[in-house]
Amino acid sequence: MFKIPETHPRYESLMKREKLVEGIEAGITSKQGLIAHGRGEAFDYLIGEKTLDSARRATEFAASLLLAAKKPVISVNGNVAALAAREVIELSNLINAPLEVNIFYRSEERVRKIKEHLEKQGAEVEKVLGDKPNARIPGIEHARARVDREGIYSADVVLAPLEDGDRCEALVEMGKKVITIDLNPLSRTSRHATVSIVDDVERALKNLISVIREKRGEKGVELAPTSGEYDNKENLREVIKEIVNRLKEKDLI
Ligand code: ATP
Ligand code: MG
Repeated sequence: MFKIPETHPRYESLMKREKLVEGIEAGITSKQGLIAHGRGEAFDYLIGEKTLDSARRATEFAASLLLAAKKPVISVNGNVAALAAREVIELSNLINAPLEVNIFYRSEERVRKIKEHLEKQGAEVEKVLGDKPNARIPGIEHARARVDREGIYSADVVLAPLEDGDRCEALVEMGKKVITIDLNPLSRTSRHATVSIVDDVERALKNLISVIREKRGEKGVELAPTSGEYDNKENLREVIKEIVNRLKEKDLI
């Protein structure tokens, strides 16, 4: 890995790039994943590379959904594996949810490498699905539809960071609650999800883990929220307002 001095003002952002380049070299991240990350980076600049209040609200609701879920599943792609393997594994253990490798540019080799990477980082072998897909998401073409019957296919709540818009829509269409993490508040994914956390994947997962820990510790916490209690589109409007306000405060508009 290229040595970035910790004093560099863009240290964290540059480290993420290094992790993705390592992911490419290890065969777990796709080249297209680099482009997707670039789109995310642009939005991260706009939000100030820190968690917005609107993202915290989304995280609170997402945590309640995951705690109330009967069958939560965490979907993992090549960017998530490179950037936040430790966090998805920790979350998977915390809420007892399997990790399912589910990638857009599918090759069996890349699925196997992501699975091995997660296991090397400490995931339990039987908790990582996705290498033997035996069901399909209706309405999605070809390999992208392939999922595990015991995983995403039958899950009631799917956490799908950096998801693709039409797959997110198809999962919601199947009646699932879908939680996404996506830096772009305008993406189809953000707009179609039950809850969109507009934040960087690593920051968002860390927050989600700590909110779940807190909620678990609280007595008498309301664990069964209904979607009616949360308005995702309204929260996305709040994200954009926060971006605009931040730019105003900096005297940029
Ligand atoms: P959609 O399919 O939802 O309309 P898209 O086609 O623009 O969106 P995809 O390539 O399908 O985007 O998915 C990548 C998404 O992941 C982008 O919206 C991008 O903002 C987001 N993203 C990239 N890197 C990160 C990151 N580190 N943390 C959070 N989100 C990220
Ligand atoms: Mg897309």
